[in-house]
Amino acid sequence: MSLYKFRTIYLKLPQSVANMGDNESCLFCKIARGDIPASIIFEDKLTMAFMDIFPISKGHCLLIPKQHYENMLYVDTKVAKHLAVRLAELTRKVHSAFEPDGIINVIANGVGAGQEVPHLHIHVIPRNEGDRFGFMFPDDYREEMAPRDELDGVAETIRAQTDLLGSKQ
Ligand SMILES: [Zn+2]
Repeated sequence: MSLYKFRTIYLKLPQSVANMGDNESCLFCKIARGDIPASIIFEDKLTMAFMDIFPISKGHCLLIPKQHYENMLYVDTKVAKHLAVRLAELTRKVHSAFEPDGIINVIANGVGAGQEVPHLHIHVIPRNEGDRFGFMFPDDYREEMAPRDELDGVAETIRAQTDLLGSKQ
């Protein structure tokens, strides 16, 4: 089950490895179907939450849509809305259960972002001081603030994009 490992969101795998999953062979589809065991926290018609088998910290779990969507670029809007609600619930439950210093929610979209299992999944990872998990930032991060006109231009570029998936629903 090495594909299930989540070590760092910066880890890159060869395209052939990351894309080997489909609905039949996809690890998370198998879990959603009950074909392989998982420690399930909750499930409903659209979603399922279960424990990560390689927990970074106590309480590290995953939330997935039961239907196969590769990542956020392809997920159905209705399912995405439901995932957001269940994510808030799951995050609060984990917080209540273990009272960590904080909790990080992580989604890797695509191999370039470190996605290892090609089925949308959201990590819920409790964080505590000294846990040795974290984001990596460039050495010159925050040395210079981006100019406002540049940020406005980037915002406009993003704003101008059509929500291709959403516009179809
Ligand atoms: Zn799947």
